Amino acid sequence: MSDTQGGAPVADGPGPGGEGTARPVLVINAGSSSLKYQLVLADSGRSLATGLVERIGLEDGRATHTVDGEKHVLEQDIPDHTAAFEVLTAQFRDHGPDLQEAAPVAIGHRVVHGGAKFASTVLIDEEVLKTLRRLVPLAPLHNPGNIAGIEVALETFPDLPQVAVFDTAFHQTMPPAAYTYAIPLSWRQTFNIRSYGFHGTSHAYVSRRTAALLGKPLEDTNLVVLHLGNGSSACAVRGGQSVDTSMGLSPLGGLVMGTRPGDLDPGLPAHMSRVSGMTLPEFDHALNKESGLKALAGSSDFREVMELRASGDADAQLAFDVVVHRLVRHLGALALVLGRLDAVAFTAGIGENSPPLRAAVLERAALLGIQLDEQANADARGETRISTSDSAVAAFVVPTNEEWEIALEATKLLATT
Ligand code: AMP
Repeated sequence: MSDTQGGAPVADGPGPGGEGTARPVLVINAGSSSLKYQLVLADSGRSLATGLVERIGLEDGRATHTVDGEKHVLEQDIPDHTAAFEVLTAQFRDHGPDLQEAAPVAIGHRVVHGGAKFASTVLIDEEVLKTLRRLVPLAPLHNPGNIAGIEVALETFPDLPQVAVFDTAFHQTMPPAAYTYAIPLSWRQTFNIRSYGFHGTSHAYVSRRTAALLGKPLEDTNLVVLHLGNGSSACAVRGGQSVDTSMGLSPLGGLVMGTRPGDLDPGLPAHMSRVSGMTLPEFDHALNKESGLKALAGSSDFREVMELRASGDADAQLAFDVVVHRLVRHLGALALVLGRLDAVAFTAGIGENSPPLRAAVLERAALLGIQLDEQANADARGETRISTSDSAVAAFVVPTNEEWEIALEATKLLATT
């Protein structure tokens, strides 16, 4: 049984079955200056090791590797991604598990942007890599790091199948009415400008779990998933398929985030250029790194903003109110897009850990037929129903597990090739 408190009991744990003798998948999330990894069993989701190599290419590289709850820290220069993978293999060699004995069946790479080219997980070959390089302009902050990780992983583990799992793929089921921007045709045709959506692995995992918690087949379930972390997005999921989402072409749009503003008036860049002489790169930097909670409350960390708010800080209170208002607006819009709503699921760092945020959103969602169970919300740990038993539409906290989803995607693909 899953960890459930308050509310209605939930269905059995997330896994499709026991661990059997299955081999793990090595899940890699490579950024421009960091490499996150996890050795995970696809059938149970059990993590055999997790690690993070940080400050790649900067001074004072740092690596942590956690096995059986024990954390091993290494501090050394990590000039590039090749060095980062050397650290990864050294950590496994020195602290286990032995990658020969617990040999991964595949490597699953998280890739942020797959454009309209990739609607599902793919086996990586030279052709796929070429396409990924062509897609860099769509995600200049994220895809180059993802690609660097893939290139070095192919050299480091030449005998293992390697797959790319895209944040955007889950949203490729959106209909044209949802993904089309009302902008000149030549922009759309020549530069593939449209809404793509992100956090797809999380939205996919959480919608499957939420349907299971509701006790309904995924195919008959309509959900809004609120992935609220450093980056945040809302997704309308009908029958297991994304039909609309708050992020668009880039991960800047939609909800208010740690350092990103979410939706803005499209007139803003030209206006700022006129009144302040700001250049586009400066504008881009400000929207990616200096906006959102950081701009409103002085910290991009929601927990810190909540502490400031509790101490009576007016900026933090406004930041909270803006975040909630934007969430309510998107939740209402996505519910109407779905036409019928069965449940809302909260996930990621803020969604899983902030009862006040969940309460503030759901108290304003009574129109949708959601009745908050205040005690269940306050006590929620792990998968928890936080709506009352007679609530017409249910609400849940569902911890996301993107690494497990990537491992599942990798093994699913291998089984069909
Ligand atoms: P993620 O990107 O999913 O790791 O989420 C990171 C965000 O979750 C940060 O803004 C954290 O401050 C926030 N967060 C983590 N734990 C808590 C908590 N207990 N209460 C409020 N926010 C939290």
